[in-house]
Amino acid sequence: MAIVKAKGTYDVLPTDSYKWSFMEDKIRQVCQIFNYEEIRTPIFEASELFHRTVGETSDLVKKETYDFKDRGDRLVTLRPEGTAGVVRAFIENKMFVEPINKLFYIGSMFRYERPQKGRYRQFNQFGVECFGSSDPIMDAEVISLAVTIIRAFNLKGIKVRLNTLGDDQTRETYKKALVEYFTQYRDVICPDCQVRLEKNPLRILDCKVDRDTEIFKNAPKIIDYLSDEAKSRFNKVLEYLKEMNINFEVDPMIVRGLDYYTHTIFEIEASIEGFGSQNVMCGGGRYDHLVENLGGPSTPGIGFAFGLERLLAAIEAEHNLNSENQIHLFIIALGDKARLKAMKLVNDMRLGGLITEMDYLNGKLKNQFKMSEKYHARYIGILGDTELENNVINVKTPNSTEQVTIPLDSLYSYVVNKLRSGSCSGCSSSCGDCNCDCEAKENE
Ligand code: AMP
Repeated sequence: MAIVKAKGTYDVLPTDSYKWSFMEDKIRQVCQIFNYEEIRTPIFEASELFHRTVGETSDLVKKETYDFKDRGDRLVTLRPEGTAGVVRAFIENKMFVEPINKLFYIGSMFRYERPQKGRYRQFNQFGVECFGSSDPIMDAEVISLAVTIIRAFNLKGIKVRLNTLGDDQTRETYKKALVEYFTQYRDVICPDCQVRLEKNPLRILDCKVDRDTEIFKNAPKIIDYLSDEAKSRFNKVLEYLKEMNINFEVDPMIVRGLDYYTHTIFEIEASIEGFGSQNVMCGGGRYDHLVENLGGPSTPGIGFAFGLERLLAAIEAEHNLNSENQIHLFIIALGDKARLKAMKLVNDMRLGGLITEMDYLNGKLKNQFKMSEKYHARYIGILGDTELENNVINVKTPNSTEQVTIPLDSLYSYVVNKLRSGSCSGCSSSCGDCNCDCEAKENE
């Protein structure tokens, strides 16, 4: 029997991979504009890293990590999220010598979850982590970067929801209030929440089972327990966001699933058809103790992560992402000698930046034409023995009667000039109709 993909994974085929490139390119552009630099960390880390950062009592570590022993008996874990690895790298590489580090990553994460639409066991995240400033202005910048990503893709129906977990004092008072409240309902809450009540009461509000019940809706809200300092800090963040015309709502029910958050936390939700409750696209927050908890110098930090499968689904729901087939030139060669020359020509054209294709099956003329049609080639070069002897090549424009015979060594300049005069070399539309920034456009 043929081997099939592992449960909860999927292949990105060429019919879709260009969409991923489009999305990732745009993300990189936005990060560059905000002056965030890319960091790439390993896909697996010592298990302890996630246990210490994400928290022993979080669902993520208790139920969802891919843990295994390697051949050297070390306990390792496939990263379930990006922050822990970035913080580890930040400390290990002494990046803290710089006052501010603004970083981003794009990569695969692994969680042993029940697969469904918008939820996979291997999925991709784009995230940012920003170290060095505890100023509310940093919170506002990070949130505005996330919002700019949304705007760059022109997505509508988006909600930015914000909350604060306050400072240590706030959380202590709030935890007591939660324990008091939920103790009355100990027998009705789910078994997991009964454990959370003892070990980490804040996590109760993350419960996937009972979250929408009246008991949960009437639970104490952290916003009512904020210390004066935490309250004024949060208000500052809101003020900055308003100044930047960022729409948001304060939602006292979001707490976020990981243990390391302090102060501002936020989520971005999109209404993606068919995704049901898997509609949270981005989540993030401040983590002022994480670097210190992992053995680094006390350094404040804040970040977020976008789920890229969900972001792409939202993009596709709003836009028709057509693959712009960009083959500029297809060279048809007939006979062994012509094939030899064609290979060199194809290579020369490619070195000059023309997207060039040829036939690899030694097909008949008709089949080679068919292949050029499949690629939507803009021009077709035809090379047979006669052309070779005369050092020329026939160039045909598909779907027209236009055909010329030109010297072989002028093929490159001929095609480049045609592309420039007729339409954009970067895409297949006529100049002026497209948004591409190809050379032809610049020369207009
Ligand atoms: P989290 O690290 O849980 O806050 O997740 C951040 C974002 O990653 C979420 O808002 C989702 O968009 C996405 N995400 C989390 N888990 C999965 C998953 N299993 N499959 C697909 N996307 C996910």
